[in-house]
Amino acid sequence: MRITVFTIFPELIRAACQPSILGAAIEKGILSVTAVDPRDHTTDRHRKVDDVPFGGGGGMVMMAAPLALALDERLHAEPVDVRPRIVFLSPGGVPFHQGLAQEFSGEESLYLVCGRYKGIDDRVRCEYATDEISIGDYVLSGGELPALVVIDSVMRLLPGALGDFASAEDDSIQSGLLGAPEYTRPREFRGAEVPEVLLTGHHDNVRRWRRRAALRRTLARRPDLLEQAPLTAEDQEVLEELRAELDLERGSVKRGRRPRAEE
Ligand code: SAM
Repeated sequence: MRITVFTIFPELIRAACQPSILGAAIEKGILSVTAVDPRDHTTDRHRKVDDVPFGGGGGMVMMAAPLALALDERLHAEPVDVRPRIVFLSPGGVPFHQGLAQEFSGEESLYLVCGRYKGIDDRVRCEYATDEISIGDYVLSGGELPALVVIDSVMRLLPGALGDFASAEDDSIQSGLLGAPEYTRPREFRGAEVPEVLLTGHHDNVRRWRRRAALRRTLARRPDLLEQAPLTAEDQEVLEELRAELDLERGSVKRGRRPRAEE
């Protein structure tokens, strides 16, 4: 998969793409990430990419031409049968979610367009955008961090990117539920023991415990996810028990009990 990021701060993208799992996935050739700077498509001495907004008001707006020329150049270089998905990052976009990450991971070529200042001259979005994505209800100074959020979440879904692909399938949200709690050595930390079943080596019991813990955590924190989650008849039975258990415990939390790890 090829990802192309349009940004006036290409070094932010390049620096973040070197370390960790993302860097390793790029090294293995599972995906490529290229940062394209609209400044390379300016003709003036100052490589100007922003100008004052029509209608007045403070701040600057990213000019249409340098970005449009950068997009044109890349689009012309694509193979004839490839039509990239062109995603504009914007606080006014559709909230980003795992389903979109899944969809994007199936694209051969994905463009991520980062705004700065007060945003991009809207005529560029109208001409090129296939999608407009927000990573949450808060405003950042630029689209680079949102672009990296998209890149990382997409990369995790590409076959071979993670050492053990099963670990992405069990992830919170990806599985349809929140993930079960995880533990590693030592068996006891400040008096808190790892749940006994995880030490038994009994795979079926471990699998059942994890499923129950995931259902419990989802029911306690994000019951809305259960409406869409793929649930078996056994899950439904477990949920019935958990509803009763949680109701009882909520009563005792009010009376001062500390919540369990899965809550
Ligand atoms: N004036 C713009 C508005 O009201 O929508 C906000 C501009 S913001 C300061 C600059 C750029 O940061 C945006 O063009 C966008 O690319 C990016 N950005 C900021 N917050 C974002 C968010 N929550 N999700 C995605 N991109 C965001």
